[in-house]
Amino acid sequence: MGEILEEFISGFCRTSNETRTICCEYEQGDDGSVTLTEFDCNPEKCPNSAACTIWEEAKSRERKG
Ligand code: SF4
Repeated sequence: MGEILEEFISGFCRTSNETRTICCEYEQGDDGSVTLTEFDCNPEKCPNSAACTIWEEAKSRERKG
């Protein structure tokens, strides 16, 4: 199992209509990949997730190995 990285990403949440900071966890693989493993919100159930800049930023920090 790779190293776990914790990052905090802030941005505007449309659903709660306020700025939020979301805790994210990434797993860093031996091949240099970075995979988002935890996002402390529920984008699958959120009607605004397609336009959520926090979720977008969290996904953009992933890397292929
Ligand atoms: S996924 Fe939805 S509820 Fe979660 S931070 Fe983004 S807009 Fe807010």
